[in-house]
Amino acid sequence: MTTAAFGVRGQPLAPHTSLRIGGPADFFLRVASEKDLVGAIQVAREHELPVFVLGGGTNLLVADRGIRGVVLQNAWREARVDGGVVTASSGSELAHVAAVAARAGVEGLEWMATVPGTVGGAVHGNAGAFGGETADALLDADLMDLNGDGWTAKAGELGYSYRTSALQGTPIVCVRARFQGKAGDRAAAVRRIKEMANERIKKQPLAQPNTGSIFRNPPGDHAGRLIEAAGLKGRTVGGATVSEKHANFIVNAGAATAEDVRTLMSVVQREVAKRFGVELVPEVELVGEW
Ligand SMILES: Cc1cc2nc3c(=O)[nH]c(=O)nc-3n(C[C@H](O)[C@H](O)[C@H](O)COP(=O)(O)OP(=O)(O)OC[C@H]3O[C@@H](n4cnc5c(N)ncnc54)[C@H](O)[C@@H]3O)c2cc1C
Repeated sequence: MTTAAFGVRGQPLAPHTSLRIGGPADFFLRVASEKDLVGAIQVAREHELPVFVLGGGTNLLVADRGIRGVVLQNAWREARVDGGVVTASSGSELAHVAAVAARAGVEGLEWMATVPGTVGGAVHGNAGAFGGETADALLDADLMDLNGDGWTAKAGELGYSYRTSALQGTPIVCVRARFQGKAGDRAAAVRRIKEMANERIKKQPLAQPNTGSIFRNPPGDHAGRLIEAAGLKGRTVGGATVSEKHANFIVNAGAATAEDVRTLMSVVQREVAKRFGVELVPEVELVGEW
C-alpha cells in the first residue's frame, strides 16, 4: 500500500477548525467508520507516519506551517441508548449525544448540547459546561494506541481534573465512549437544552470564528473577568482580536494567522500577569509545526 491511501496531500486545515486557521496536513483523511479509523492508524504505522486525530477542530490552534504526518478527521457518527446509558462513537458530535439521550427520555447529559466538537475531543480534554463535565458523565471509554492495541478504561482511570486528562500529550485514541444518564422526562431534557443554548447565544461571540475559551479559568476566578479588567477587550494583533462580547474568546476577525493568535495570547498572558499576578494557562491546544 502506498501513502496514496491517505487521501489528500497538503490539505489546508483552516476549513476544518472552528477558528478557520491552520496550514496544511501532509496527508488528510476523513474516516467515517470504526473500520476506517482503525485501518488508517494501521497504515500510518506501516509507513511510520505520525497520526493526529482531528475531531471537530473546536479546541485547536493549528500552526501556519500545518501538521506533519497524517491527520485523520474523525467523522464516524453513531450513538445508541440502552436504559440510561448512551454509547457513542468517538466521532459523534457531543450535541448529537445530548439529542439522542434527550429523545430517549434520558436526562443528565443536556450540557453536552452546548459544547461543540466530538466525543473523542471531550474524552481527551474533559470538556464540560453548565456544571456538567465529561469526567462525571463518562462510564468508560474504549481506547487504542498507535500499534492498534485496544483496551477499555473506566473514567476514574483517566486522571481527570478541570479540562485535563491523562490522555493529553499522549497519542492514545478514543474509539468509543459510554455515558451514564438517568431515565427521566424527554420534554424536560429538551427544554433544558433550549435554555442552555439561549444562554450561550447571549454571552458568546458565536458569529465570528473562535475556539471557545482560550484560557482555563484560574482557581476561584474567571479568565474572562481578569482579561476584561486588564483592559484587553478589543486588543488586536493582525487579524486576531480579544472579543468585545466575551474577553476569554479570541476571534478571527478576518485573515488571522496562527502566529497572530499566538502573539495575542502572549500579550494577554503578560498583561494579566503584570496586573494581577495570575498566570493564565491556555485551554486551546497549540498543535503542528511552529
Ligand atoms: C464556541 C465554542 C464554545 C466552546 N465551549 C466549550 C465549553 O463550554 N466547554 C468546553 O469544555 N469546551 C468548550 N469549547 C472547546 C471545545 O468544544 C472542546 O474542547 C471540545 O471537547 C473539543 O472537541 P473536538 O472534537 O473539537 O476536538 P479537536 O479540537 O478536534 O481536538 C482537540 C484535542 O482532542 C484530540 N482528540 C480529538 N478526537 C480524539 C479522539 N478520538 N481520540 C483522542 N484524542 C482526540 C485531538 O487530537 C486534540 O488533541 C468550545 C469551543 C467553541 C468553538
